[in-house]
Amino acid sequence: MLPPVQPTASDVSSASPLHSGGPDHLFSSRDYAALELISQPVWIFDLDHRHVLWANTPALQIWKAPSLEELQARDLGCDMSSTVARRLAQYQRDFVAHDAVFAEQWTLYPAGEAVSLNVRFSGHRLADGRMAMLCEGRPAHAHTPDSVRAVEALLHTTLMISLYDLEGRPLYRNPAARDSTCRPDECLPERLVEAEDMALLHETLSNGGGTSLTLRVHTPQGVRWHEVTARRCRDAVSGQDAVLVSEADVTAIKDTEARAQHLALHDPLTGLPNRTQVMARFADALRELGAAGAEAAVVFIDLDNFKDINDTLGHAAGDELLVRVARRLRDATRTEDLVARLGGDEFMILLRASNIRGDVDHAYRRIATSLTAPLDVRGIEVRITPSIGISLYPEHAGDIETLLRHADLAMYGAKAEGRNRMVLYTESMGMALRARTSLEAELRLALERGEFEVHYQPRMAVRKRSILGAEALVRWRHPVHGLVGPDVFIPMSERLGLIGRLGMFVFETAVRQQTEWAARGHDLQISVNLSPLQLADPHLVTRMAAVLARFGCPPSRIELEVTESMLLGHEERPIAVLQAIQALGMSIALDDFGTGYSNLAYLQRYPLHTLKIDKTFIQAPDADRPLAEMIVSLCRLLKLNVVAEGVETSEQLDWVAGREIAEYQGYHFSPPLPVPRFEALLEEAAV
Ligand code: C2E
Ligand code: CA
Ligand code: CA
Repeated sequence: MLPPVQPTASDVSSASPLHSGGPDHLFSSRDYAALELISQPVWIFDLDHRHVLWANTPALQIWKAPSLEELQARDLGCDMSSTVARRLAQYQRDFVAHDAVFAEQWTLYPAGEAVSLNVRFSGHRLADGRMAMLCEGRPAHAHTPDSVRAVEALLHTTLMISLYDLEGRPLYRNPAARDSTCRPDECLPERLVEAEDMALLHETLSNGGGTSLTLRVHTPQGVRWHEVTARRCRDAVSGQDAVLVSEADVTAIKDTEARAQHLALHDPLTGLPNRTQVMARFADALRELGAAGAEAAVVFIDLDNFKDINDTLGHAAGDELLVRVARRLRDATRTEDLVARLGGDEFMILLRASNIRGDVDHAYRRIATSLTAPLDVRGIEVRITPSIGISLYPEHAGDIETLLRHADLAMYGAKAEGRNRMVLYTESMGMALRARTSLEAELRLALERGEFEVHYQPRMAVRKRSILGAEALVRWRHPVHGLVGPDVFIPMSERLGLIGRLGMFVFETAVRQQTEWAARGHDLQISVNLSPLQLADPHLVTRMAAVLARFGCPPSRIELEVTESMLLGHEERPIAVLQAIQALGMSIALDDFGTGYSNLAYLQRYPLHTLKIDKTFIQAPDADRPLAEMIVSLCRLLKLNVVAEGVETSEQLDWVAGREIAEYQGYHFSPPLPVPRFEALLEEAAV
C-alpha cells in the first residue's frame, strides 16, 4: 500500500507549527498554472509532512477530492507502513543527491478504492529549501489484475531485484535494491567486496547457467552478507542480453553460523582452540610441516593438584586460574606455535622446529618457568606446577591422534615420577599401556574365574607374642603372571567399578574363615580393608549383616580398616556408614595413620576402636619418631587400641614394646600367608 492513500480526516491548518499558515507560503498557485493545462494528473507531495501540497484537476479526480483544500487537509502519513516511509525517505535522498527520476506503477487507495497508474517521480525544491516530490501520473488501464499485483509485489518485497546489462551496468532496480546501493549508477562489480566473486559469477553465467552464491556486498549499512542469485535473461525493453540478480540479506544467519562455529571450535573459558579444533586443524598443520620437512613436538600439559585449588578456593577461582594459565602459555610460546585447551586442566602446544629434539628442553624450561611463577588469584598467592609429556613428530608418530596419546602417556609418566617435570615419550610406555589394558580386560573376568584368594597376616600381642587376629589381604592368582599384588589391581578395580564386588568377596571369605577357625578353637579377630568407594554403596551394611548372619559369625570378631582419605571431604555420609557398622557390632580401625593428613580431630569425630600406625613411622630411625610417640600417647588418652604396622626387626619390636603398644603386624613375625601356611602357624603357636 502506498503513501498518498487512505483519505483520513485530518487537521493541517493549525496545530503543527510546520504547517502554520497552510502550504501557501511554500509556493504560489500561480507557479503551477501551466500544469493545470496538462490533461494528465499531476500533484506535489510533501515528503516531510506527508501531505499533498498541490494537485491539478485531473489529479483531484484521481484522488476523488472535491477540492484542493480537502486534499491538502488529508494526512497521508497516518497509516503509512514503515517500508513505504523508508522508501520515501530514500527517494528524497536520491532527489537531493542525484537528481533522480523514477517511473513506477503505484496503486492509490482514495476512498478505499484501488487506482493503479504509472507515476513518474522527480524532485521538486520548495521555497523553504526542502525537497518535495513531483508526481506525474498516467492511468494504467492496460494492465491485467495479475500484472498490477506483480508490480506491487516487486515494489514491496524486501528481496533486492536488479537487472544489469552484460557489462554489469544497472538497467533496473526495485526499491529494495535501490535501498541497498551506495550510488544509483553503481555497477555490479563495484557492489561485490571480493573481486574474485565477480569472476566466479561471470564464469557460471557465461556457461549459460544460473548461480546462487553467498557473497559480501557493499551497502549503505556497511558490508553485508547477501545470498546472490543471478541468471541470464533478456531485457524486455531493449531485447539485449542481461543479467537478473536477486539478493537477500543473510547477514544475521551468517553471523549466527560464525558464532556457532567459533563456539564449536573454541574453549569458551580461555578462548583457546579446543580438542575438536586440535584434531582438525593440527592435522593440517602436521601435513604442512611434513611437506616442508620440518619437525614438531606435541606438548601435553597437566596442572598438578589443580583439583585441590578448585576444591579449596572454589570454581570461580579455578576458572580464573585456567584463564591466567592460558595467557601464560600463549606468552611463553611463539605465534607460530599452536596452543589449545583439551579440557579441565589439560592444555597442549604444538611446537615447530627444524630440529625438535634439540629444542624440547629449552621449550620445557620456558613453559615451566612461566607457569610456576606465583599467581595472585583473588588475593591468594597460588603456585602451580605442570606435569608435561612430550611426543615428537615425525619420530614417534605421523598423526595427531597417536602423538596426543603418546604425549598423554608421557605426561602420566611425569606424574608417576613425582610431578612438576617433563617426560619424553618412549616406546616402552606404549608397551606398558598395552600391558595395562590387557590386564584390565582380564581383571573384569577374574572374579568369575575364581582367581582371587585371600591371604592372612597375623596380628600379634606384643607382650605375649601370641596371635590375636589376622588381616585379610587379597591377591590375584593370574594364570600367566602368577601372584599379583593388591597395589596393582585394587586401584584398577576402583577405576573399573569392580571394587564393590571384589570387596564383598574378601569380606565373605574372611567371615567364613573366621567361623571355620573359631570352630577349631582359634577364635581370631579378622580385619578386612574397605575401599573408600565401598562407603558410597547404600546397601553395604545390610549386605555385610546378611553375610555375618549366614555364617553365624559374631560381628565383634570382624574389624573393618578404613583410611583417613575416606573420611575427608564429604563429611555426613561416612559418619553415618561407620555408625551403622558400629551399631551392627563390628569394630573400626583407622589404617595407615600418619601418612595422610593426620588430623587428630578424626580420632574423636569417628567411632574408632583401633589405630594402625603406618609402617613408615615404625621403620623410621629412632630420632625420627616424635610424631609416632605423640600419636601413641594420644591413643592412650583416647583409649584406642594401637597396632604397629610393618615391624621387620627386633629393634623395631623393642621400640614398640617400650611405647606400650599392645599389638603389631610385620614380617618380623610373618608376612601375609595363604590359608594352609597360616593354619600351620596357628598349630605351632598352640603347641
Ligand atoms: P595395608 O592395608 O596397609 O596392608 C598392609 C600391607 O603391608 C600389606 O601389603 C602387607 O603385605 C604389607 N606388610 C605387612 N608387614 C610388612 C612389613 O613388615 N614390611 C613391609 N614392608 N610391608 C609389610 P599388601 O598385601 O600388598 O597390601 C597392600 C595394600 O592393598 C593394603 O595396604 C591395602 O590398602 C590394600 N588391600 C589389600 N587387600 C585389600 C582388600 O581386600 N580390599 C581393599 N580395599 N584393599 C586391600
Ligand atoms: Ca590394612
Ligand atoms: Ca596399613
